[in-house]
Amino acid sequence: MADFGGSILKVAFLTLGCKVNFYETEKMKMQFEEAGHTIVSFEEEADAYVINTCTVTNIADRKSRKMLHRARRKNPDAIIAAVGCYVDSVRKKGGMEEESVDLFLSNTEKAQLVEKIAAFEAAKRKQAEHAYSGEKKEAGCQGSMSRKAMEQRHTRAFLKVQDGCNQYCTYCIIPYVRGPLTSKKEEDVIKEAEELAKQGIQEIVITGIHLSSYGVDFTEQKTFLELGGEPLLSLLRKLSAKKGIRRIRLGSLEPRIMTETFVSSLAKIPNICPHFHLSLQSGCDDTLRRMNRRYRTREYLDCLKLLRKYFVHPAITTDIIVGFPQETEAEFAATCAFAEKAHFAQLHVFKYSRRQGTFADTMEGQVSEQTKADRSERLIAIGKKMQMEYQSLFEGQIEEVLFEEIISINHKEYLIGYNERYIRFGIDTAGIPEPEKCCNTIHPVRVLGHLTDEILLGEYS
Ligand code: SF4
Repeated sequence: MADFGGSILKVAFLTLGCKVNFYETEKMKMQFEEAGHTIVSFEEEADAYVINTCTVTNIADRKSRKMLHRARRKNPDAIIAAVGCYVDSVRKKGGMEEESVDLFLSNTEKAQLVEKIAAFEAAKRKQAEHAYSGEKKEAGCQGSMSRKAMEQRHTRAFLKVQDGCNQYCTYCIIPYVRGPLTSKKEEDVIKEAEELAKQGIQEIVITGIHLSSYGVDFTEQKTFLELGGEPLLSLLRKLSAKKGIRRIRLGSLEPRIMTETFVSSLAKIPNICPHFHLSLQSGCDDTLRRMNRRYRTREYLDCLKLLRKYFVHPAITTDIIVGFPQETEAEFAATCAFAEKAHFAQLHVFKYSRRQGTFADTMEGQVSEQTKADRSERLIAIGKKMQMEYQSLFEGQIEEVLFEEIISINHKEYLIGYNERYIRFGIDTAGIPEPEKCCNTIHPVRVLGHLTDEILLGEYS
């Protein structure tokens, strides 16, 4: 436990980027709470602001810097800490670190954040004591720790099982920044999952930078394809056998892992959510080739067929990049047509953003921002239509919803939660006695229709 000289700090977090970052933020929050500090929302005035940064694109870099400045404006006296990929990337380039930031911690230093902030706080306090030597030293605050932040988290948790990537997609800086593949040992993952279950977490999301490669580093000279995803399956079987974890959701998977053996084995594991995120990035083979993505659209469609053979209405979600260098109008049209054919449950559209240090950044034929914006808008519209169609499949059905929070929509309060397929539901709280007690419980809900474009309206059944 870190020594803060008796002071309890209010610490706010903001996370950018991938699921791994979200998972690591949860872990850092937990470490602060274990050290007796209070987690507050990023909107509140805090003693320390931690920005878990991302560097996947130039836009992510810019956003990371913007959030660091925003934190400084919120409380000019606060400790501002930048952690994660943006820091790694700036250091690798030998770049200047932001003046408004007090602490810079790379991905490997995240575990030391509590101590670093403690040391910084102690040094700051000493300085203040010198400056105001006549002033009486403030006694350490003995107030009790807020449990609110903990309670909000007690539903779903991210569990990172793998780091690093060796795929070298031409637009991505991650393999250079995150280093080689490393997987957490099965027994360590299981221990963490047990710990989460003890805390009342009902759903864990298994994440990794290249999750399909989980366990490749446990063997010699084998690729995830040669292993057929067996290390991941073995881990999931063991996790599924643990009491308390009601749902296991998988983070992003590489389409090539979806062989008939893998999918059929997955379908036999109880508690696996029928929700699969398979990053497509482009629905055009020539673009995929330039991206150094190693599957083709034909193979991708075969994966979808397999998933639909072994799971009932699986939610298949994806990411697509528009405006990749040299993407022609015909290539983009192929991506749109492919997306429609694939019937995704949800589509995340990204405008290609140049990333220094990647091969794609050096490519000729960069697409104009105007064209990217236009293509993005068109693809988002297709995504929305598909999402509505997918969600409509469940109208009139009874779905199991894990409730997370109560929010207000158009001046009415709704209990909000997700089903196994990660569809968001809202239930009018009127008529539910003590609706806050429903948070972190799973309850059957009858689907009535759409509450908003993205949320289905349900009623307790
Ligand atoms: S698979 Fe490609 S996009 Fe994903 S982290 Fe690895 S290099 Fe980046």
